[in-house]
Amino acid sequence: MERQQEWEGDRRRVVVVGGGVAGSLVAKSLQFHGDVTLIDPKEYFEIPWASLRAMVEPSFAQRSVIHHRDYLTNGRVITSSAISVTDTEVLTSEGRLVAYDYLVIATGHAYPVPKTRLERLKQCQAGKLAIELMTYIMIDLNENAVPAALNLLEKLPLIILARRSLLVHNGFRLLEFIGPKASYKALDWLKSKHVEVKLEQSVNLNSASEGKYLTSSGETIRADCHFLCTGNPIGSAWLKETVLKHCLDDFGRLKVDEKLRVNSRKNIFAIGDITDVKEIKQGYLAQKHALVAAKNLKIAMTGGKESKMANYEPSSVKAIVSLGRREAVAQIPLTTTIGIVPGLIKSKDLFVGKTRKQMGLDPRIVDA
Ligand SMILES: Cc1cc2nc3c(=O)[nH]c(=O)nc-3n(C[C@H](O)[C@H](O)[C@H](O)COP(=O)(O)OP(=O)(O)OC[C@H]3O[C@@H](n4cnc5c(N)ncnc54)[C@H](O)[C@@H]3O)c2cc1C
Repeated sequence: MERQQEWEGDRRRVVVVGGGVAGSLVAKSLQFHGDVTLIDPKEYFEIPWASLRAMVEPSFAQRSVIHHRDYLTNGRVITSSAISVTDTEVLTSEGRLVAYDYLVIATGHAYPVPKTRLERLKQCQAGKLAIELMTYIMIDLNENAVPAALNLLEKLPLIILARRSLLVHNGFRLLEFIGPKASYKALDWLKSKHVEVKLEQSVNLNSASEGKYLTSSGETIRADCHFLCTGNPIGSAWLKETVLKHCLDDFGRLKVDEKLRVNSRKNIFAIGDITDVKEIKQGYLAQKHALVAAKNLKIAMTGGKESKMANYEPSSVKAIVSLGRREAVAQIPLTTTIGIVPGLIKSKDLFVGKTRKQMGLDPRIVDA
């Protein structure tokens, strides 16, 4: 086993596990305040809500798949998965032991993706070709899948051009994580685009063969291609046999206090979708967690008073779901609205420029 990192002068060792929305932002925010190491199985951060637009618009892929090293200029990146943790070290799948003074756990979701940025860009390109060629069936089997299913909505115009689209969802309404009004508006919008929606049905993918899919009601659907939008499991399996196992709730989420520290541990924080914070799991909230945790870590690392630390306030339900490139359905306090106005806020750029800017990068740049 290889031991990493000795004490770096008087800089505290901060290890961030997970380079997604929350982890990459906290690492970026702390890189000049501590000796920061980011552990992530891929060498890039990808803006998840742009991942499907990236498949139809190559410039989106270029802007939304970002090398960790581009924003983490004063930290180190270990391209590997964390598989265990003790009170002082994180163990990676390649057998490295990475010592920490402060640990931030941000392994929101675990899903297989290419390791390198180049491979990921090629994957998007292949997806683009597939979309241009095929009929689609979209399968949304459970409510954890909401974000993925939502983003499929935004490339519907292109799919519709391709031929015919069908969305299968096992719930009784779409967008179950927000209010029914938004569900019905989105459903009407889909119908107006001639998208067939099958609710309260699921698809047995194991029985799918040669373009035939069997639904739970016994119907056979034919499709050239399908998109699975059933969400990804919480990325906490690696913690189950560790010193933090008692900090997981029944859903596999890490219990945090209002400072975003894991269960009374002064030097371990958790942020993003992996936490048990009582609010919807959304990227803009994961970013808020990262900023609160960064503030609190800076105070902790300099021996500041706990009373100076920020408390995280769970957010009420707010969401904007893109419907194609121009429209969107938005649920904000007191109202739900659909059309070009919410679309103007989100659908054109999907906050990609804004997210890049937050990471200290040029919002527009399209590199090779
Ligand atoms: C398709 C899609 C569309 C979405 N649309 C929106 C939207 O429009 N608006 C919005 O606000 N939110 C949206 N979301 C939700 C948003 O992306 C999540 O809430 C956000 O990504 C959570 O951030 P996170 O950092 O907690 O987790 P993630 O972004 O999931 O990052 C987790 C990171 O941890 C890494 N990881 C996992 N396990 C390990 C391990 N063992 N060791 C090391 N690293 C590990 C992963 O590789 C990943 O990099 C969408 C999500 C998806 C998937």
